[in-house]
Amino acid sequence: MNLGKRDKKHLWHPLTQHKIHPDALPIVKAEGALLYDDKGKEYIDGIASWYTAMYGHCNPYIIEKVSDQMRQLDQIVFAGFTHEPAIRLSEELISILPDNQEKIFFSDNGSTANEVGIKMALQYHFNKGEKRNTIIAFEDGFHGDTFGAMSASGLSVYNGPFEDFFIDVQRIPIPNPENIEQVLDQLRGIIDANKVSAFIYEPLVQGANCMRMFEAQYLDQILRICKANRIITIADEVMTGFGKTGKNFASDYIATKPDIISMSKALTAGFVPMAVTSCTQDIYDAFLDDSVGKAFFHAHTYSANPIACSVAIAGIELLKSKTIQDTIHRIIQSHKDFDTKIKDHPKVATTRQKGVIYALDLNIEMDRYGTKRYEIFDHFMKRGVCLRPLGKTIYILPPYVITKEQLSKVYNTIIDLLDSF
Ligand SMILES: *Cc1c(COP(=O)(O)O)cnc(C)c1O
Repeated sequence: MNLGKRDKKHLWHPLTQHKIHPDALPIVKAEGALLYDDKGKEYIDGIASWYTAMYGHCNPYIIEKVSDQMRQLDQIVFAGFTHEPAIRLSEELISILPDNQEKIFFSDNGSTANEVGIKMALQYHFNKGEKRNTIIAFEDGFHGDTFGAMSASGLSVYNGPFEDFFIDVQRIPIPNPENIEQVLDQLRGIIDANKVSAFIYEPLVQGANCMRMFEAQYLDQILRICKANRIITIADEVMTGFGKTGKNFASDYIATKPDIISMSKALTAGFVPMAVTSCTQDIYDAFLDDSVGKAFFHAHTYSANPIACSVAIAGIELLKSKTIQDTIHRIIQSHKDFDTKIKDHPKVATTRQKGVIYALDLNIEMDRYGTKRYEIFDHFMKRGVCLRPLGKTIYILPPYVITKEQLSKVYNTIIDLLDSF
């Protein structure tokens, strides 16, 4: 039996209505920016497999480092034990994170990284004898699918059946030059009327919300009001982290630094799942006490798995390398040139870019979750390009190792699409 048939027997895929979309495409191999299906057809991975494989699939440097680690130490309980890969990774992370970050806490995925951040913020106030139960988040943000992260997420299609069980979240719109004063007023109103513990936000780019972008200076105004009210600020850098915005972290563009930062996805370069929540010394200190009760009682079995840590260390080494920094800047410039070429196309409504993230909204009639989206997806896949449109938005977030020729092919299939309407 072929893979497609065997898949249908026992597998349940994420984000999939199996009644409408029973088929999943088997991928048998990946290398650099390329994916290969079971028929030998190749596809350029234009979204780095959900922004994970940024240094290219099956990166040989990472494979070498992981193999060494696998022979040395596979797994050890991280409560009461420690090891070199975790220690080294903490040092590497602190060296590239914003200056105020001091402590590193491990978990398994982006949702749990945010879950940890939210729990840290709630317990921070609790440990200080204050009950602060409200969280502020942006409208239409996305922070993951576990309960805390889901509560903070504002994209309702994912949340419907669970809303009765959510923690209390108040929302503000993402800021722009026109609404900023109103957003700040709304924020002050929420702070006055509630006991707010934390503000969680995707800095500068809202990934799942169609790569919606906003400016650092307005986010900074919001963060300053939060800080003045001792509200813990949590930057969800699960998507934006590790170079995608052109700097190591999106928070590097913003003057006011967050208290907590969550990271995953590119952290482990597409190899294995892992996540990290970093925080300031002040957050960490609020959990120190002569009794155990104030400690942070949150653990995942695979916390700081040595193999995952070795992947992350190798990934950061690559990120810091001149080769990768050069390709990041080459991609940024190519996107700009592409933008100049297509932004006035009659079928393009708007375009936006932050670092290697490029998005355009189509100027055509369609529903976010309608069938047109799948037709557009098929247009790309037929031509050997893997892009997953979000409603009317087509975005590119390529691995840093994508070649000039591969990137041109991605651009050209988008132009073909625009010309086909
Ligand atoms: C993907 C993502 C998450 C969730 O991460 P998972 O690893 O899928 O749980 C959270 N926040 C942002 C901004 C993301 O892009």
